[in-house]
Amino acid sequence: MTTTHGTLNGKVALVTGGSRGIGAATAVRLAREGADVAVTYVGGEEAASDVVRRVEALGRRAVALRADSADPEEAAGAVPRTAEALGGLDVLVNNAGVGVLGPLGELSLAQVDRVLAVNVRGVFLASQAAAARMRDGGRIITIGSCMTQRVPGPGGTLYATSKSALIGLTKALARELGARGITANIVHPGPIDTDMNPGDGPFAAGQAAMTAAGRFGAAEEVASMVAYLAEADYVTGAEFSVDGGHAA
Ligand code: NDP
Repeated sequence: MTTTHGTLNGKVALVTGGSRGIGAATAVRLAREGADVAVTYVGGEEAASDVVRRVEALGRRAVALRADSADPEEAAGAVPRTAEALGGLDVLVNNAGVGVLGPLGELSLAQVDRVLAVNVRGVFLASQAAAARMRDGGRIITIGSCMTQRVPGPGGTLYATSKSALIGLTKALARELGARGITANIVHPGPIDTDMNPGDGPFAAGQAAMTAAGRFGAAEEVASMVAYLAEADYVTGAEFSVDGGHAA
């Protein structure tokens, strides 16, 4: 076991949807910077346990919480559960999200409700709970999408709607919580190689071609930005693209 000494020593972070992909990479990165970490998941219990083991191997405490962001009580409840398990809360990373793409006319009401429940209502409720429970000087970091900056083709109405709402939430949180030294920022990933958007999937080549870098990003590249925002004190209400130039 290695013990890390980083800029987040003594801090507690909650990463929603931390069992896989960007969330898992973020949980491990924050632990590497010194934080104790809680992750939420829905179906991926084994994957979440693996993230816990990776965090513990860095000498930090970790806990995996089953909490469905689509359920209002579970979305908010992950915050007090984290605080009770790890002794407080300093950093909330709103990462859990679902991507539903499709022609406007084919999106069902159930799909609209599901995407807005996970991507918007769950983030709002977790942020509300965090603001109530978080220590002064805390951080709220939300994962948006490059689709809020540039929609490169049809099929993105629902997903872009949901992620764009988070920009307004972020700016309003920054204004509301600034006096307590709590910052709120949003990170917009471009195409990132995860289960949601595999770098070898059927639409991967087209997405890579839409970036200036000409490639998919890695989850760790998004996690680096989150780690920076977890430390930065004079950065709030702002949007950060980690998209290989997708919006350029
Ligand atoms: P993945 O699908 O690879 O992983 C999603 C994670 O979120 C898993 O840990 C999953 O848990 C969890 N999750 C899913 N639904 C819920 C829910 N209802 N409640 C709690 N946890 C949930 O996604 P990515 O890592 O690719 O995406 C992470 C974030 O980044 C999302 O918000 C996504 O919209 C955004 N994003 C991703 C991009 C990409 O190209 N990959 C691009 C732009 C934005 P479990 O294992 O239990 O299913």
